[in-house]
Amino acid sequence: MTNTGDDGAGSSERPRPASPGTATAVTVTGVDKVFETRSGQVSALKRIDLIVAAGEFVSLIGPSGCGKSTLMRLIADLDQPTSGSISVFGKSARQARLDQDYGIAFQQSGLLPWRTVAANIELPLSLHGVAASERKSRVGELIELVGLRDFADRYPDQLSGGMQQRVAIARSLAEKPNLLLMDEPFGALDEMTRERMQSELVRICAETKAAVVFVTHSIPEAVFLSDRVVVMSPRPGRVQQIVSMQLAADRTDGLREEHAFFDMVTAVREALHQGSPVSSVRGVENR
Ligand code: ADP
Ligand code: MG
Repeated sequence: MTNTGDDGAGSSERPRPASPGTATAVTVTGVDKVFETRSGQVSALKRIDLIVAAGEFVSLIGPSGCGKSTLMRLIADLDQPTSGSISVFGKSARQARLDQDYGIAFQQSGLLPWRTVAANIELPLSLHGVAASERKSRVGELIELVGLRDFADRYPDQLSGGMQQRVAIARSLAEKPNLLLMDEPFGALDEMTRERMQSELVRICAETKAAVVFVTHSIPEAVFLSDRVVVMSPRPGRVQQIVSMQLAADRTDGLREEHAFFDMVTAVREALHQGSPVSSVRGVENR
């Protein structure tokens, strides 16, 4: 994907990467993460090297416990690597967090229970002094986008888990960030809503040119969304293989039924199984 760095307005506030041609959203260099626990050390990540270009969509896939969420938390500066370094748009992870350079949608929606759906989505805009009229129209747009028009005035505990997650996604998109960090954001959604959200995310990324780091357990989801899929090994998580999706840039729904799509699903599956035989299930996972 190309980077056009098209959010020229406000560039005085948000330093842009020096050269658009080589712009990177995220650089992870030699990162290890060891957790100290009562029963000893847990090595969660080992020698992770990863570069996510501006505007690129990269998915992380791998067995449970391989460190996907840990890696996301390190990028988001919610925890620190044991060794190695991480930069986000050329800044330290910490500075990027302080500058709110990215939107986050994690497994837990993290909504404020005392604010309505609309007020939750509006929160980042209020915090950053966006004018009331602009806030209102942006919130309206986002509520429409995630299909919650009739729920704008509800509170989180009045929503299903899937609906709460849609609110969290809308909130992460509120400021049209250049980077989205998404950890299984669609995991709680039913299959139809999930595919719709995937298509919406593709459209949003095309519009905003946002880079995305996306964790999923679903191979078809990773294939549909990504430019590259990072396949991680069981704990301690390492980058086992990076599979480039040889697919058309515009990801329309029809793609889900194309041969090229199944080929990529198979390629990711084989990378996950490290070359173990998969012939019995080849190509059947996308119902
Ligand atoms: P994934 O998201 O791929 O399922 P995680 O990143 O959540 O995996 O966890 C990776 C490994 O690190 C797991 O073995 C998990 O138990 C361990 N882990 C994660 N967070 C902590 C923590 N705060 N303290 C101790 N161990 C942790
Ligand atoms: Mg996880």
